[in-house]
Amino acid sequence: MEININRLMSDIEAYSQYGLGSNGGVTRPSFSEADYTVRDVFKTQLEEMGLEVTIDPIANIWGKLQGSRANNEAIIVGSHLDTVPNGGKFDGALGVLVAKEIVQTLIDHKVKLKHDLEIVSFTAEESNEFNYSTMGSRAFAGKFKEAELIDAVDSKGIKLSDAVKKAGGDISKIEKLPNKNIAAYLELHIEQGRKLEKEDLSIGIVDNIVGVYRDKVIVEGVANHSGTTIMEERQDALVAASEMVVSVQKHAKKVNSDAVATVGKLEVFPNATNVVPGRVEFMLEIRSANKIERELLIKDIQQSFKDISEAHNVKLSFINRLNHQECSFDKQLIEAMKDVAESLGHPYIVIPSMAGHDAMHMADITKAAMLFVKSANGISHNPKEFTDSEDIRKGANTLLQSLIKIDKELTLTEMHESSVDI
Ligand SMILES: [Zn+2]
Repeated sequence: MEININRLMSDIEAYSQYGLGSNGGVTRPSFSEADYTVRDVFKTQLEEMGLEVTIDPIANIWGKLQGSRANNEAIIVGSHLDTVPNGGKFDGALGVLVAKEIVQTLIDHKVKLKHDLEIVSFTAEESNEFNYSTMGSRAFAGKFKEAELIDAVDSKGIKLSDAVKKAGGDISKIEKLPNKNIAAYLELHIEQGRKLEKEDLSIGIVDNIVGVYRDKVIVEGVANHSGTTIMEERQDALVAASEMVVSVQKHAKKVNSDAVATVGKLEVFPNATNVVPGRVEFMLEIRSANKIERELLIKDIQQSFKDISEAHNVKLSFINRLNHQECSFDKQLIEAMKDVAESLGHPYIVIPSMAGHDAMHMADITKAAMLFVKSANGISHNPKEFTDSEDIRKGANTLLQSLIKIDKELTLTEMHESSVDI
C-alpha cells in the first residue's frame, strides 16, 4: 500500500492558493480571512471523506476515522495550516495534507486500524498578531488558563476570544483540554535546515526538539554630543554591544555540536547621527538539544558580555524572556519509524529539530515523534520554500507504514497491561 503522490501534490498546490501573493508567497496567519476560508475547505473535505469532524475550544480542527476497537484511544497525525506572512507552501500544510492523504489511502484500501485515527490541524502554530506561537497545541496540552488569553487583542483591536469563536472555538472552555484519550502523536514536517540535503537524504527521524533560551540584554552607556565628546571619555553603548554580538558568534562556533546562538534584534537609543549611543537593547537567543551544553554556552556568553561591559565602562543587565527546555520524543515511536524506513529502503539520519513544533507540546501529554523531509537549500518561512515530490512520497509512505506498525504495537502493549490487571 502506498499513498497517492499525485493526489497529494495537487492538494498541496490547491491549499497554497489560499493566501497566495503575487510573488508566490503564502500569507495565511491564523484568524486571517485566508485562514477562515482554508478552515472551511479543510472541514468540508474531511466530512466528504466520511470523517467525524470536530472543532475544539481553541479552534483546532479534528477529523476522526473510527478504529475497529470500541472506545479506543486515538493515534493523532497532523500539523498546522497557518503560515507566517509571505511564507511557503510546505511549512505546516505538508504535515496536515500528508495526514489527510494517509487517511484517504487507508480508506481506499479498506484498511481499518485498531485505534481511532485522527487528523489534526492546530490553530496558530506560527507566531501571530496575538503573540502566541504553537497556541493550538499548547492549549490542547492544557498549558493555558482562560485568564491568560481572555484579554489578548491584535493590532486592530480584535479580541482573541472573538477570533477563536469565529473559527468555531470557545476560549471559556480551554481549561477542559485535552479532551481526548490519546495513544500517540505523529507529525511530518519540512526540515527547515540543510542537514538532510547535505547528506543527500529524503527523510530524517527527529529524536528531540532543542531547548531555547532568550535574554533581553540592556547595555547602558552615556549619550553625548558626537562632536564634543572625545574618544577617551566615551561610554558608547553601541560599540560595547557590537563586541558582544561578535562574541556570541565566537562562543557558539567553539561548541562542537548543533548549538546555535543569535542576536537577531537590536535597538539603538537615541539612534541619531550626531549622538554617541547611550543605550542599546538586544535579544540574545541560544538553542541546543543538549541541556548541559546549552547552559554552559549561556554562562560563557554572559561572562564575555560582563568583561566587555567593564572594558567599555557601560552598565549591563539581562532580563530572561524564555527558557524552554529541550523535548525528547518517544523511543518506541522512533524505533518503529527507523524499522519502517529501513524496510522501505529509505536511508535516514536521526536529527534534532532546531525549531519548535506542535509536537513538543503533544510530547507532554502522549507518546510523540516527528519525521522530517528535506527542504531545498534549507529555506523556509519564505516563498522559495520547496520540497521535492519524491522526498514527500518517501516521507509520507514511511509515516503511513509507521502508523500501521504503531497501531499494532501499542494495542499489544495495552492488552498485555490489562491482562496483568485482571
Ligand atoms: Zn511549521
